[in-house]
Amino acid sequence: MLSYEQARQKVIEQIQKVRGTHETESVSVWDALGLVLAEEIRTDREYPPFDRSTRDGYAVRSTEFRPRAKIRCVGEIKAGDAVRESLEPGTCVQIMTGAAVPAGADAVVMIEHTTREGELVSTEREPRVGQNIIPRGSEAKAGQKILEAGSRLGYAELALAAQVGATMLRCVKRPRIAILSTGDEIVAIEETPGEFQIRNSNSVSLATQVRLAGGEPVVIGNALDQTADLSQKIERGLKEDALVLSGGVSMGKYDLVESVLKALGAEFFFDAVAIRPGKPAVFGYCKGKPVFGLPGNPVSTMVTFQLFVEPAIALLSGVEAPSLPFVEASLAEGLNEKPGLAHFLPAMLSWSGSKPHVKALKWQGSGDIAALAKANCFLLVPAERQKIEAGERVSVLVRKDVV
Ligand code: AMP
Ligand code: MG
Repeated sequence: MLSYEQARQKVIEQIQKVRGTHETESVSVWDALGLVLAEEIRTDREYPPFDRSTRDGYAVRSTEFRPRAKIRCVGEIKAGDAVRESLEPGTCVQIMTGAAVPAGADAVVMIEHTTREGELVSTEREPRVGQNIIPRGSEAKAGQKILEAGSRLGYAELALAAQVGATMLRCVKRPRIAILSTGDEIVAIEETPGEFQIRNSNSVSLATQVRLAGGEPVVIGNALDQTADLSQKIERGLKEDALVLSGGVSMGKYDLVESVLKALGAEFFFDAVAIRPGKPAVFGYCKGKPVFGLPGNPVSTMVTFQLFVEPAIALLSGVEAPSLPFVEASLAEGLNEKPGLAHFLPAMLSWSGSKPHVKALKWQGSGDIAALAKANCFLLVPAERQKIEAGERVSVLVRKDVV
């Protein structure tokens, strides 16, 4: 049986092998969060576009504004003011943060370091040439590349694009990820379940995790534990870029996902992983599309999505698969787990000052969504470990959506 690292690596290798070209679309900078840029972005002009003051103070000639010299202030410059005239010898001007420094001035002296009596300004300190001035073009030249194709767009990247006037961005289209739950007991979340039925909460967690990973969820609904219905809905799902199933991959008599996929010609790369929860997770290719069969217990579905489906969506979006976001933390209360499988326990990561510590939460097993809704991470107990003492360093996989 593969470890979770080996299984994740298998997913990455297989998807890298068959990854084709990516369709693109033009998206407003307001709507492009999380998308992958499909073009490079260049500056429209020099940055900063003028010599910019980084302080409130006085623009001076450093050779004149010596300690105790009294220099006449002849005006003020605010951010946004047009500055066309040079600073006359023997004078200075008051200047605000973000304003253009006039030609002739070669330093800005912070207001805190000056004394003013009427029009006369003096300082106790030696000014340094260039101090508190960002020269025109020193951040970027005109036409310089500032964002690479293949960048994932977060708020800083989007602000950078906006700064240079790139308001419409060519982005990779989000990969469409079909989501299909299975089980005779499952009803749509809008319905009132019968006494022995349960709502399809996995369709919601999966759609949300797909969105967080940069994909476009296509919720197909639920298939009954019957070959014909399952087969027909799987074929529908295979029209999208990838298919994620929940349920029907365990050893039960009505767990038909693998056999139906096999009948449709699927090739499997794993059908079990040495983890708890989530051991029966399946990954393969069917009709040229990646297919994941995740166990149906909600916490298993969530963990296995993060471990195995997330890197696939990254690759299908045109970026490299990210590393798992593990953080090291000190264990708050000792643990005693069964060895043999790597355990991912719902846990709470918190910080005392800058020191992270983590506590596993009480839970009723992999059906316990409420426990995970109180958790902000999974605490990893490695397969070979059983007892971990309070105070030991442990690895924690953070839930990106809440940390
Ligand atoms: P399975 O993996 O099909 O054996 O399902 C295991 C358990 O997970 C079932 O007994 C259900 O209680 C639960 N489950 C399966 N599918 C879903 C779903 N779509 N939404 C919420 N819970 C589910
Ligand atoms: Mg089932």
